[in-house]
Amino acid sequence: MTPYEVKGKVDYSRLLEQFGVQPVTPDLLARIRKPHRLLRTGYFFAHRDFDKILDYYDEHGTFAVVSGRGPSEHMHLAHLLLYMFNLYLQQEFNAYVFVPFSDDEKFFFKDQLELGDVRRYSVENALDMIALGFDPSKTEFFFDTAHMNPKMYSMAVEMSRKVNFSTVRAVYGFAPETNIGLLFYPALQAMHILYPEVERSLPVVVPIAIDQDPHVRVSRDVAAKMGLFKPATLESKFMKGLSGEAKMSASEQETSIFTTDKPEAAAVKVMNAFTGGRATVEEQKVLGGIPEVCPVYEYQHLFFFDDAKSEKLYKDCTGGKILCGECKGNLARYVKSFLAEHQKRREEARHKLDMFIMKH
Ligand code: SF4
Repeated sequence: MTPYEVKGKVDYSRLLEQFGVQPVTPDLLARIRKPHRLLRTGYFFAHRDFDKILDYYDEHGTFAVVSGRGPSEHMHLAHLLLYMFNLYLQQEFNAYVFVPFSDDEKFFFKDQLELGDVRRYSVENALDMIALGFDPSKTEFFFDTAHMNPKMYSMAVEMSRKVNFSTVRAVYGFAPETNIGLLFYPALQAMHILYPEVERSLPVVVPIAIDQDPHVRVSRDVAAKMGLFKPATLESKFMKGLSGEAKMSASEQETSIFTTDKPEAAAVKVMNAFTGGRATVEEQKVLGGIPEVCPVYEYQHLFFFDDAKSEKLYKDCTGGKILCGECKGNLARYVKSFLAEHQKRREEARHKLDMFIMKH
């Protein structure tokens, strides 16, 4: 696993140790008035210093969330889940949400993308976020290649002197053929992450999937060297792809559900999904299915269901009371109606985009 690639089976408890992150414990959750389902279910299972963010919140009633987006594709449901969680942080904790779009990084990283492509995806991805209902008075979007200003570039320049080549080579896996744009990007990313603290005096939490932890570690080092509060993290597991692989990937078109998929086409993807079902109906009725490996279960559990419905599906599946065809049909219906509604809202969001763009 690197910040750019996740393959195979992921052992999350080993990652806790390997990365030296703290587990999200019942004690931590007890400090939150209404813990989000993604916290209660253990999807966000690790953190760095989120307890300190809660200390600050107890005193000041707010903090900042930085949640960057690399716009190389349309967003899929796992991406959207992260921004739904960010919206919860805004609504529950009165948090300021800053979304830097690293169109430059995606251009550096993906040879097949032109600048026009990443800029277009920045706008398309922003529409998905606006459609979720972020408050424009507490949310700012920043597209690197369009909105860079002297103040922010100066911050990145200052931060670049705090990061050396051997650190970024070790963290990002840079090789001799890596283009030089990517070498400077970690300084820009540190600027993104630390901007709310420098400009708004707010401590920052970065909600991320755990493979992104090394990126934030670089920014934490920069913060320490500059005498700033180290950005905290909340770190999630991955949402499975429809073929059962560990992480839904935007490069796997057939096993990811994109927010822009035609609802009927998304339903077909669901009906073709891998499941945790048994080889025969008879076996499944006797032994039950295996929801732990089943993306069809995971999507309903994480995305569509509350606690009671999730528990019922788990019991029905393991007890052999529901078969995979019916279960996939249910998910296909949820996905279709969600996408139809979401796509309506993201079209309405087009005329709101300007309200969210950072004003200098
Ligand atoms: Fe997955 Fe549903 Fe089949 Fe259980 S019944 S294995 S949750 S598709």
